[in-house]
Amino acid sequence: MTLHMKVGSAAADAAAVLGRLGVAETLWTGGCRPVRSPVTGEIIAHVHDTPAIGVAQAVDRAHAAFLNWRSVPAPRRGELVRLFGEELRAAKADLGALVTLEAGKVTSESLGEVQEMIDICDYAVGLSRQLFGLTIATERPDHRMMETWHPLGVVGIISAFNFPVAVWSWNAALALVCGDTCVWKPSEKTPLTALAVQALFERAVARFGDAPAGLSTVVIGGRDVGEALVDHPKVPLVSATGSTAMGRAVGPRLAGRFARALLELGGNNAAIVAPSADLDLALRGVAFAAMGTAGQRCTTLRRLFVHESLYDAFLPRLKAAYASVKVGDPREARTLVGPLIDRAGFDLMQQALSDARAAGGTITGGERVEVAEGADYVRPALVEMPAQAEVVRRETFAPILYVISYRDLEAAIALQNDVPQGLSSSIFTNDMREAELFISARGSDCGIANVNIGPSGAEIGGAFGGEKETGGGREAGSDSWRAYMRRATNTLNYGATLPLAQGVTFDV
Ligand code: NAD
Repeated sequence: MTLHMKVGSAAADAAAVLGRLGVAETLWTGGCRPVRSPVTGEIIAHVHDTPAIGVAQAVDRAHAAFLNWRSVPAPRRGELVRLFGEELRAAKADLGALVTLEAGKVTSESLGEVQEMIDICDYAVGLSRQLFGLTIATERPDHRMMETWHPLGVVGIISAFNFPVAVWSWNAALALVCGDTCVWKPSEKTPLTALAVQALFERAVARFGDAPAGLSTVVIGGRDVGEALVDHPKVPLVSATGSTAMGRAVGPRLAGRFARALLELGGNNAAIVAPSADLDLALRGVAFAAMGTAGQRCTTLRRLFVHESLYDAFLPRLKAAYASVKVGDPREARTLVGPLIDRAGFDLMQQALSDARAAGGTITGGERVEVAEGADYVRPALVEMPAQAEVVRRETFAPILYVISYRDLEAAIALQNDVPQGLSSSIFTNDMREAELFISARGSDCGIANVNIGPSGAEIGGAFGGEKETGGGREAGSDSWRAYMRRATNTLNYGATLPLAQGVTFDV
């Protein structure tokens, strides 16, 4: 293969790291599905697709495991997650390196993604001793009413390429302590990181000792494999992360068989820079949120509303930041922006820039950066728009930041909310009235609304997800665990009479 010699081979790095992570060579060689590294464009592995029968077998095994696992005390289930967290700590550098090779993230972000897995494991271990229900006052004498939370069953997890491992862990760590079992279909673009996580999970299972076989399984493939999981009657919950188009297909299928859907879909996130903002802080917040992960986060900042009084002072500083970021090999320490995932991502970006230009936008950046032949590196684009045109209202999964000037805060909030998606948002202001308005019922309509930080980079302690076409699901912290359990309301009579509720009499 003739590569631009600015970057070293990804294939050699991948082989070495897969070996260290204990992924059997037979799993990533000899299969029909090529795995391409966005870092160099090389094919770094050939994995085996799971046939439909294999998906059914994985679900059957997970269901059989569930029948055992649901009776294991929750704190003991937490012990398995604790051991898995230890495996992740030991393998953090290698798993992070594999995330970089397969998804193209810069090293510090890949390590951050693995750290997020560790964090959710720690959280889930604590949670395993805190799964609780309420006791509720009853109207009947000598009665007690309460709710209990029980394990749900097999959780199907479908994940996107851009968080190839963390999204699974948000779901799996909680599901496992809740007494569920998991079958995971990772993105077809990132199967190697999933196989590596599975290898680490199996190490934890071996140390745990008496876990049932099939607690968590990976199935590999494209949309058809996802559909087999979505349609399986023994999967009561599917947590699906990806585009809104995927959610539009998956949601109704799950509703058709009355299964639960936890949908984490596209975003079109915004920030407002208000007159009282600390501009140094706003600049750093905007730069990371808009250019980090090469614009390929669901929470990436895509729309910036700048108050007209600051516009002429702030925009030159932002343009200078855009011109200065190093775009290049994500394995190099100084690189801040790695590659786009593939040529299709590059083409969508160029299409959006062309649409923006046609709608009156003025573009800075957005051009191809030659790093490796066959790979798609771009300079992030800043697009000054006269209005929120159609192209601004759709999610383009690439580093494009549309900038619009505003005069009135309430009008800016209305514009921010006037998109189909509802994931993340933020305001930079030192005016407490503006900050409070922004997070009030009349403010941002998103699942995440921040003040003086950008819209991306959430912590696992809070519930993560968004409204409208983002799908409405919530994962990770707060009370998200409830989605992975079923609730039973119990009324107990410890008296000798049988009073009926609402004063009903029925004497026989
Ligand atoms: P994608 O929709 O192309 O694929 C996501 C996953 O869904 C893949 O595993 C894919 O194989 C599977 N899939 C696709 N169609 C399916 C179907 N009909 N039935 C079952 N499975 C199906 O998304 P992507 O390109 O991998 O990721 C980028 C998108 O994901 C962006 O829109 C981004 O905003 C979104 N995303 C959202 C979140 C969130 O938490 N809200 C997180 C990460 C990514």
